[in-house]
Amino acid sequence: MSDTRLLDAVDALTKPTIDHVKQTTDDGEYLRTVPVEHPPLLQQLADAVVPSAGNDGGSKSASARERNVLDSDALYDLLLIQKQLIDMCAWVDVAANRSDLPATLRAWYAAYIGRAQFDAEGWYVSTLNKWAGQIRHRMERPKSFEAGYPCPICGPKPWIGTDGESYPNMLIVEYPRDEPDLSHARTICRNPECRAEWKGLGAIEELGDELREAVEKVSG
Ligand SMILES: [Zn+2]
Repeated sequence: MSDTRLLDAVDALTKPTIDHVKQTTDDGEYLRTVPVEHPPLLQQLADAVVPSAGNDGGSKSASARERNVLDSDALYDLLLIQKQLIDMCAWVDVAANRSDLPATLRAWYAAYIGRAQFDAEGWYVSTLNKWAGQIRHRMERPKSFEAGYPCPICGPKPWIGTDGESYPNMLIVEYPRDEPDLSHARTICRNPECRAEWKGLGAIEELGDELREAVEKVSG
């Protein structure tokens, strides 16, 4: 092979990625950069359909609810990608493991490059890049975490969702996926009767020490 396009495409789907999240003081002065690791893209897609144990455990109720909203779309992508990957593995006599897609794709790659001919390489590169694009698009929602602090407007009383379930009324902090820090964060109350929203880090400061501590815990 004359270039690394295929390996790059495999890596993009199967290796964890690191975000460098900037931490600043109250007046916006740079403190330090904290690495935050994200699972491989293929694993993120699988997790979106079947939440794995221990995956951001602190915000279980909020993230489980978000995932339920995503499930049908993510499941559709996952089934298509799984089917293509299983076919690809069959062509090079590799056993596919549905519960570990990153390992399966790497096993496929090892078998594929071990062969003499790479006649379909262009097709594989574009197929794998298409998967990565689909998954990134699917995961583009803001990152969020439960602040561990009840809404100061509507209070700590749990609220009932349209699914009839009771949810703890904890504030949620959301920040854009591609932002290096929390300066564009917004803090929201998920209670449908309230929907209070605070924008920016300054608002987090005003909401109090509990929330600030929750933010600091997540950022580092
Ligand atoms: Zn509220």
